[in-house]
Amino acid sequence: MTHFTDMIDGYRRFRNGGWQQQRERWDELAVGQSPKVMVIACSDSRVEPSQIFDTNPGEIFVVRNVAALVPPFETTPGRHGVSAALEFAVQFLKVEEIVVMGHGLCGGCHAALHKSMEGAEPGRGGFIADWIAMLDEASEEVRNTHADLDTRDAGRAMEMAAVRVSIDNLRTFPCIQEKERRGTLTLRGAFFAISDGVLHLMDDATGDFSPA
Ligand SMILES: [Zn+2]
Repeated sequence: MTHFTDMIDGYRRFRNGGWQQQRERWDELAVGQSPKVMVIACSDSRVEPSQIFDTNPGEIFVVRNVAALVPPFETTPGRHGVSAALEFAVQFLKVEEIVVMGHGLCGGCHAALHKSMEGAEPGRGGFIADWIAMLDEASEEVRNTHADLDTRDAGRAMEMAAVRVSIDNLRTFPCIQEKERRGTLTLRGAFFAISDGVLHLMDDATGDFSPA
């Protein structure tokens, strides 16, 4: 498995290879960034957006967190990391699309479905419990409609429902509502199935997913 010393070896390969070959591109990027797409993905080490979408540096503005979640618009005191990134991408970079990409075998969604972190202390699972509590309503529904929660069917239903929750929460942000209305911003749901490497796209009208 890779440790940081191996990553420094990787950095040297990058510095002598890709970075040298794309000097012009890096010179441009030094002036500024103008990505057209923001991607919200899970922190899971297996779902790297720039690899899955085969993008280059400067092309996608990425936020990753547990289960690829977007909290609703809130003005309560707190450190609103996702909201700050959204604000920057939408208002300053003026991205034209936001993609929420959930994934198969998601640990955060598994915990939401099984309530496995419930009651944990902060630092011992409590932060995760609090974070994924935004999936409570969705997980309740999956629990009510699936007899066996240990099936992949139930797991995937939870993972796809989480994408829909994040898309719905994106629509609680006034700046997103306004830009969607004006047609200058499009929201897209996606799901990457780790087991077979297939990307699924969400139909905005029905909330159903089908292979891209
Ligand atoms: Zn995940």
